Amino acid sequence: MTVCDLAPAYVRDIAPYQPGKPISELAREMGLDEASIIKLASNENPLGVSPRARGAIDSILGDLSRYPDGNGFELKQALHKRYGVAAEQIVLGNGSNDVLELAARAFLNPDASAIYSQHAFAVYPLAVQAIGAQGIEVAARGFAHDPDAMLKAVRDDTRLVFVANPNNPTGTMIGGAALEAFIAAMPKRVLIVLDEAYNEYVPREHAYGSLSWLPRYPNLVVTRTFSKVYGLAGLRVGCAFAAADVADLMNRVRQPFNVNSLSLAAAAAALEDVDFVRKSVKLNGEGMKQVTEGLSGLGLDYIRSYGNFVTFRVEGAATVYQRLLRNGVIVRPLASYGMPDHLRVTIGLASENARFLDSLRRSLVG
Ligand code: PMP
Repeated sequence: MTVCDLAPAYVRDIAPYQPGKPISELAREMGLDEASIIKLASNENPLGVSPRARGAIDSILGDLSRYPDGNGFELKQALHKRYGVAAEQIVLGNGSNDVLELAARAFLNPDASAIYSQHAFAVYPLAVQAIGAQGIEVAARGFAHDPDAMLKAVRDDTRLVFVANPNNPTGTMIGGAALEAFIAAMPKRVLIVLDEAYNEYVPREHAYGSLSWLPRYPNLVVTRTFSKVYGLAGLRVGCAFAAADVADLMNRVRQPFNVNSLSLAAAAAALEDVDFVRKSVKLNGEGMKQVTEGLSGLGLDYIRSYGNFVTFRVEGAATVYQRLLRNGVIVRPLASYGMPDHLRVTIGLASENARFLDSLRRSLVG
């Protein structure tokens, strides 16, 4: 009997999260020049870091011997100014991943269950399993969340439901009216964690205002991230908005200094970089058109996406993935999401999208 044998079975059974392959790793494995590789595997912003955030990072470097502000006062003020949500309703995290876990830690226990959709973001089952709670995966409909089936799946012991809108890796979304109806129909004893990591990319005609729902739904948590449109994935900063008593519980279980000084300063500055966000969203719209038209031109089906990535079906997806890698193009295989015939590609710069499409054309099987 080893110390590891005595760890809880639910921990030993966790299947680790599979991230997109880093550029440096592919360069090492294939003997490629890093500069020749394009990574379209982790839904990062192809424009890089917002210039304002970069300025804020420079200005904070001299203060790194100090602990960060554990309450994130300035970032919360910036979020308050932007979204009108009070500081005591905000939880900051080391990426939105962190706040998703804080919700699970604060509201689940080994006697509880939590609901999420098939093909939904992989962190939900991981966060639930790490607590030893039971995960209930609800079948997707046409690769999208099925809100009615998720409502029906609620049991007496259900304490939490995760909804990704838009969802990763499928890019699908529930429209605002249907989403609010789902939230309204959910029993008040079930916490709804609405993960809006890709919110800023949702086209204007499909946009809805979940933060304005908070006063009506005391069991709603909305999460956002600085990793996508704000271009700060490497710094790790995200946040949750909820009723003050819910936010208070989540804050009790977080590490006192879970968001570092660089992240706090960069995120506050990025939030104000409206030009950068606008440019990023515009580039994504153009790139989405370029990539989806290119996929159609190759005779490939894709799932309509509301995010900064698109998932497409391709024969021999595992082989195509490997061939793309050999061409220095990293995309995301989706076998671990129960979608072995699909690959997900992040929308990049126009030149990256063109290179992806060209490499894909040469990598097709058959
Ligand atoms: N939610 C969704 C739906 C995501 O796709 C991601 C990132 N892949 C996250 C949350 C977590 O992102 P981060 O921790 O960088 O904020």
